[in-house]
Amino acid sequence: MEDVYRLYKSMKIIHNYINGKLSKPKNSNYIRVFNPSTGKAYAKCPDSSFTDLNNAIASANNAFILWSKKSNEDRSEILLKIAHELHKNREKFALAETIDNGKPLNDSRNIDIERSINNLKFFASAIINNSSESHSLPGNVINYTLRDPLGIVACITPWNYPLHLLTWKISPALMMGNCVIAKPSEVTPMTAYLFSKLCIKAGLPKGVLNIIYGAGNNIGDEIVKHPKIKAISFTGGTKTGKTISKTASSLLKKVSLELGGKNPIIIFDDCNYDEMLNTTVRSSFGNQGQICLCGERIFIQESIYNKFKKDFVKETKKLKIGNPLKSDTNQGAIVSKEHYTKVLAYFDRARESGAKFITGGKSKSVKGTCSKGWFIEPSIIENLDRNSDCYKEEAFGPVTSLHKFKNKEEVIAMANETKYGLSASIWTSDLSTAHQIAKDIEFGIVWVNAWNLRDLRTPFGGMKDSGLGREGGNESMRFFSETKNVCINYD
Ligand code: NAD
Repeated sequence: MEDVYRLYKSMKIIHNYINGKLSKPKNSNYIRVFNPSTGKAYAKCPDSSFTDLNNAIASANNAFILWSKKSNEDRSEILLKIAHELHKNREKFALAETIDNGKPLNDSRNIDIERSINNLKFFASAIINNSSESHSLPGNVINYTLRDPLGIVACITPWNYPLHLLTWKISPALMMGNCVIAKPSEVTPMTAYLFSKLCIKAGLPKGVLNIIYGAGNNIGDEIVKHPKIKAISFTGGTKTGKTISKTASSLLKKVSLELGGKNPIIIFDDCNYDEMLNTTVRSSFGNQGQICLCGERIFIQESIYNKFKKDFVKETKKLKIGNPLKSDTNQGAIVSKEHYTKVLAYFDRARESGAKFITGGKSKSVKGTCSKGWFIEPSIIENLDRNSDCYKEEAFGPVTSLHKFKNKEEVIAMANETKYGLSASIWTSDLSTAHQIAKDIEFGIVWVNAWNLRDLRTPFGGMKDSGLGREGGNESMRFFSETKNVCINYD
């Protein structure tokens, strides 16, 4: 497997995808792209300018008339062709995601690429199974509701699930008849670039999807401000989300914001212990803790606190950190040097506030090819002051903290004492406890005896500082459309 690094030895150049073609940025500016597991730059992606954006907008504008008038079946067929191409090339994409992001190859295969294919297939099917609404009034009056495409929309995505989140947004946008300007994260642009090649191969009409790369505060901001862009679907950090929301609201643009979280995992002493323990290791350290749904605060009922602490540390220590290409690796590299430094600085701040690391709490050196990579040990904190910044802020790394609780009332208050409201997991075998807590906690996604169990039809998104709006199934299709009600009096 180490031979793979040779494949990626020569510098790869990523191109924008504009008007159906791969093109260089007009300003010839590029951003270096790193392999996090080796710490070396292996590719460069465009740092696009307003000219590139304008070209993309012009091509989307030209494509819109034909694309929006195509039947749902025709649009669906093209998306299915892309899904088919992705399926054929899934191993190549999994490898590219791992080299670009640092995550274990098994995760890229079984989660990232698998879910990307599912996203494409799901929305290709959803559009042809979509139903319209009609409401009748007494007498001869009937209403029907049309959902028209918006025009040109933007999809801006982060680095933690690069292709998965790109396909999650562009699929409903395209199926509703819109043309799309997508901007993947400049930290992990590779699979989006490979995807644009698949779109060309599958015959996606030119201009329907344009993918441009570059720094968020530069081209990202230009995208948000552009008068031709009618809606922005954004996934990323809360701070960025607030900046985007400010600009977009002054221009009366539609926005959907999927932002950060500080999610609670609530464990009662009557839960299915083994299942809870296994899942809690995943919900803490999956994707090196770089999942918006990861549980960074674990609340444990006091009667099982000591047992859980001992078992959780033991299971966490079993996680194998290292070369993400190796099949037995569970923990790969942190996505970038900048993020690695940020997570380690969070550890320092936690220590300064009096917290104790009962395992981890430091970087990990890996021998061989990955000796210059950015690795951090899965870390568990105890005695984290609930008034400290570290308790309140998202770390977005392989770290979680343990807290004791006595009863339902206390844990509901603790779970809610955060500005975030993305997701929560409740572990109990008492149905009434599960229902009561699910009702009283302020999180957009609540799992009972599960974590990250996804049904693409369900509403996905957070409350409070975790976002605005929901994605998934009909929620996504509605976001990417303009609603028109027609009321007819046929008396
Ligand atoms: P980020 O906010 O730094 O960047 C996300 C994207 O926005 C990137 O493409 C970036 O280039 C772009 N961007 C940055 N500044 C911009 C601006 N001013 N205008 C327009 N675009 C801009 O986030 P990140 O570090 O890439 O991702 C990590 C964050 O994403 C975490 O907070 C995580 O919780 C969150 N996240 C949330 C979800 C969810 O569904 N709620 C899913 C995944 C990740």
